[in-house]
Amino acid sequence: MLSGWREAMALRPWRISAKLLIMTSVVTVIGFSAICFNVMLDMRRGEEALARQTLENLATTIDADISRNIEVYDLSLKAVASNVLLPEIASVSKPIRQLILFDHATTAKHFGAVQVFDADGNLTIDASTLDPVAENRSSEEYFTVHRDNPNAGLFISRPMLFRGAYSIVLSRRLSDTDGGFLGVVAGSIRFSYFHELFERLSLDPEDTITVLKRDRTIMMRRPFDLDIIGKNLATLQDWRSDNLKAGGSYAGKGPVDVTPRLYVRSSGSGPLFVVAGKPLAAVFELWQKEAYRIGAVVLVLALFVLGSAIVLAREISRRADAESKLEEMATTDALTGLRNRRKFDQVIDAEWRRATRQKTPVALLMIDADHFKAYNDTFGHQAGDQVLVGIAICISDSVRRAGDCAARYGGEEFAVLLPNTPAAEAFKIAETIRGKVQGWSDGGTGSTVSCGIASLTPSAGMDWAVLVAAADKALYAAKGGGRNQSVVASLPKLSLVA
Ligand code: GH3
Ligand code: MG
Ligand code: MG
Repeated sequence: MLSGWREAMALRPWRISAKLLIMTSVVTVIGFSAICFNVMLDMRRGEEALARQTLENLATTIDADISRNIEVYDLSLKAVASNVLLPEIASVSKPIRQLILFDHATTAKHFGAVQVFDADGNLTIDASTLDPVAENRSSEEYFTVHRDNPNAGLFISRPMLFRGAYSIVLSRRLSDTDGGFLGVVAGSIRFSYFHELFERLSLDPEDTITVLKRDRTIMMRRPFDLDIIGKNLATLQDWRSDNLKAGGSYAGKGPVDVTPRLYVRSSGSGPLFVVAGKPLAAVFELWQKEAYRIGAVVLVLALFVLGSAIVLAREISRRADAESKLEEMATTDALTGLRNRRKFDQVIDAEWRRATRQKTPVALLMIDADHFKAYNDTFGHQAGDQVLVGIAICISDSVRRAGDCAARYGGEEFAVLLPNTPAAEAFKIAETIRGKVQGWSDGGTGSTVSCGIASLTPSAGMDWAVLVAAADKALYAAKGGGRNQSVVASLPKLSLVA
């Protein structure tokens, strides 16, 4: 039976089209999704860069304000530190001394009064009063730092309660000309300064501003939380405190609460630095909305494209099936299910050319029902048809090799084409068919067949009609020899008979 490669070849374009359509659609969808994904990532990076820039500007502005105020206050401390040691100061009256030592900067709104302590920590001069109450600060860090280290410079204390208000204390050392310790001059900046500074900014409730000392002690934080003030970040676990270099940024969980934020550090070089933080949810809020919107559109489009592709591919397959059925019908004999004459002619033509190229033998069996007219006359045409079906089944059963082609050649005559088969082998197959027909009809219809066999290796320019004529002649000989027999054509001239 010819169910071989020829049909497969004929059907393949359809099958390939369906697969190609699905593949193209999938690749297109993946490609577009990848592009969209990339664009969204770019947008996300853009949003992050913008937020980082805004936060850096904010942190640097706050840093600059704090640095300027510390600088102004430090200038006053420096002036006191150098003037208080002048011998003339001791000789002037207290009010004049106050006027000389303390400028107006130290009376600014958020600045605490400057105080001078002697080498034992006793308060000697106070900017706020001519007669200060005796007090001793020798145990305070802002005092001991200077006592123990001549080069401490400007010391900024941890946040502390200073004269009833949360403040940071700024202090400088009083030294004699030999560098000997003579005491400390100290002043404070109240937290109210930071509160007022932060209030001036328009910030979201979840935004954070943290003011830190260079040793990473938290000096101030917005939102204000007294528990965290004075803590040192370097000692807080679960947070890499060294990941925020000057001007650097960090996205993730912060050291204080669990809200993931984008943190940016100011790039200033003052004694304090500022870290501004914004929740990542707020940074990416607009982007997220856009991403969901575009993602949904892309998803719908992708589903639409894939859905359409599947529908079209199914339609293509359906048509392919219909076409193969039509092809089958157009090439099949309706009564016997064997190939019809039209198909047989195509097959023998192709096989003949191939055998010519490959120089291989092609065998042909011509099979004819014996005394069939008489059978029809006796049992009727329909019974005759049943016999033809029976003979076709016997032929199909015997011809199983891929590439072989069994056909109803016309009326009660069948043809079997056996590519690459020598005469002796073809004869065996013919005998098998003949035997099967006889065995099947034995005791029933009593039908037999005669077979003419020819096999030859075609040479260039030779027509396959030669093969048909030879097989026909052999069939004629079989009929003449008494029927129910197989005869191999003798082809002496061609000298190709097996
Ligand atoms: P022989 O042994 O010499 O072949 O004798 P025969 O009677 O078979 O040969 P002949 O060519 O004289 O008759 C062929 C008969 O086959 C004629 C026709 O009635 C019958 N026939 C041809 N096609 C069909 C068909 O499709 N169905 C039926 N039932 N009979 C057919
Ligand atoms: Mg006949
Ligand atoms: Mg006949």
